[in-house]
Amino acid sequence: MSSARKPDWLKMRPPSGREFAGIRETLRERNLHTVCEEANCPNLGECWSGGAGTGESAGGTATFMLMGDRCSRACNFCDVQTGGMEPLDPDEPANVAEAVAEIGLDYVVLTSVDRDDLPDQGAGHFAETIREIKDRHPGILVEVLIPDFQGEERLVRKIIDADPDVIAHNVETVERLQFPVRDRRAGYEQSLGVLEQVDRESDIYTKTSIMLGHGEYDHEVYQTMADLRERGVDIVTLGQYLRPSTDHLEVRRYDHPDKYETWRRVAEDELEFLYCASGPMVRSSYKAGELFVDAVLR
Ligand code: SF4
Ligand code: SF4
Repeated sequence: MSSARKPDWLKMRPPSGREFAGIRETLRERNLHTVCEEANCPNLGECWSGGAGTGESAGGTATFMLMGDRCSRACNFCDVQTGGMEPLDPDEPANVAEAVAEIGLDYVVLTSVDRDDLPDQGAGHFAETIREIKDRHPGILVEVLIPDFQGEERLVRKIIDADPDVIAHNVETVERLQFPVRDRRAGYEQSLGVLEQVDRESDIYTKTSIMLGHGEYDHEVYQTMADLRERGVDIVTLGQYLRPSTDHLEVRRYDHPDKYETWRRVAEDELEFLYCASGPMVRSSYKAGELFVDAVLR
């Protein structure tokens, strides 16, 4: 399908699930932010209520956003505001860790804005948050969705040394469309390099995400997935780009859910990713805990 009219399968469903209210309350009390809520993610009910089943708790997956809500970059698909970054909150790592323990999540995803303004671009803060969570809640699985750290290997290594279970970094789109889709400081080779470093220097699972709908051709999507496998990436997700506002890039195409299912089969059966979450509503952290446990730990 190549029409740019929003199709029915992208209609939002209201959040539901018994964990929902409790998680929201804990976040409010601690003044913490999740991408799930800030981005009004359509998968919220599903993710927050779906237990990964790794421990005694019944919680699902939630994605915490670290280091504020202002970014040093300006990607043309993203709704996060650029500039005006605040100093880091030194209590945030402990605060997030306490909230995770209180909520009883099985699987937590940590992500952040890009902080090119900081001497270590926020790598140390990220690493400290991972350690705080693991210290308080040893059974939990931690996935981090990290910036490219401008390709600085010593900064990526800080994350590796904190030993999360999954390190994700999004390549976002095919090589030809990196700009205009991403900020000019990002880049295809730089992002592949971050993922390759994690694969080369650790046993930590690697993951990335590709948005569809920016005008990419099928052969370019295939090539991107092949490049990712060549760099040792284990997990890939594919989802539909949705335009946050008229100031952002237009959606060039909506693909039918069947097409996403075809990509899933190509990724898993032909390219041998450990798993591929693929669907119009899929986001990088979509049911990350459940899918990871099913594909990797069971
Ligand atoms: Fe949160 Fe990610 Fe799930 Fe959306 S897909 S609800 S951001 S964990
Ligand atoms: Fe958004 Fe990330 Fe780009 Fe910042 S770096 S504008 S948070 S996509």
